[in-house]
Amino acid sequence: MSNWESNVRKVVPYTPGEQPKDSGIIKLNTNENPYPPSSRVKTVIESFDNAKMRLYPDTNSTVLVDALAKRYNVKPSQVFVGVGSDDVISMAFMTFFNSDKTVLFPDVTYSFYDVWADVYRIPYAVRPLDNDFRINPDDYICENGGIIFPNPNAPTGVFESLDMIEKIIKANPDSVVIIDEAYIDFGGESCIPLVDKYENLLVVQTFSKSRSMAGMRIGFAVGNEKLIKFMNDVKFSINSYTMNPLSQICGAEAVYDEEYFKETTGIIIETREYSKKRLSELGFSFPDSMSNFIFASHNSIDAGFIFEELKKRKIFVRYWNKPRINNHLRITIGTREEMEKLFSALEEILQMKG
Ligand SMILES: *Cc1c(COP(=O)(O)O)cnc(C)c1O
Repeated sequence: MSNWESNVRKVVPYTPGEQPKDSGIIKLNTNENPYPPSSRVKTVIESFDNAKMRLYPDTNSTVLVDALAKRYNVKPSQVFVGVGSDDVISMAFMTFFNSDKTVLFPDVTYSFYDVWADVYRIPYAVRPLDNDFRINPDDYICENGGIIFPNPNAPTGVFESLDMIEKIIKANPDSVVIIDEAYIDFGGESCIPLVDKYENLLVVQTFSKSRSMAGMRIGFAVGNEKLIKFMNDVKFSINSYTMNPLSQICGAEAVYDEEYFKETTGIIIETREYSKKRLSELGFSFPDSMSNFIFASHNSIDAGFIFEELKKRKIFVRYWNKPRINNHLRITIGTREEMEKLFSALEEILQMKG
């Protein structure tokens, strides 16, 4: 009998949000940006010389790294870029969480962390958020093999202060602390200014949300030069040509269009604040969000029911049938028009049960 299956690396993969193909759908389920990328990205794509695809890309993504270094006021040697922040974080797990000690993250958080830990055989433990979905820093002051959490957290939207995060970083000089800032541009305060103070801090961001470029797959990390060098060594030991040339230039152009970035993130923040008001009026409660989504539960009607009813009306939000969060919906902030359609649909659904 053949037994090759016993040698297979078996894992339970991450489940991404649905990407429905139908037209006329209101898609508020994967935290994509409802606005297009900067027009400078369009210009680059339209003028891109197709013949360039013949060549291997710049392994260092120099144009993009330089743009990011300028924008975030660090040296190019402090910037690592990858194919989406999922690629960046996966590289960081492989590079920094390389001991027999336990890696720590919250129980309610980005559902990819436990998947990476499993695939790389990294021991991990979760630390429960409190009843308001807040992180207790004392939970992370103990021996560990590394720490990771998003700020603002996903899927809760809760932002933690830099003081609290600094307390965790300071208490853990023997392990790397990764702050996943996928949603930081919607009103939070970034930890990037702390990277020169703490050698063990890695800050990760993405172009998928605030820069409207989920399809281009661009993510980056900022940290101490030594951390970035270690990450690049691992990356260059697996695949040196990860980011295609078009993504590299488009990414740089998007970074240089600061005005458009400020304008669109500003509109999303405004729509979010308006949506908080409307959701409260409809009987929902939610932790205060500093991201481009709201994590809401209704005071009397089951989240699973609302999720299915919204889907029938071609409105997609995200629902997890998991302990602690199975009565919540994560609703991405779309355009004002999309949100109005959502609120009308919710009014209708609530009346069915009222
Ligand atoms: C969206 C998201 C990412 C990954 O985004 P990429 O598209 O891979 O850049 C990482 N972390 C969190 C918390 C996210 O929500």
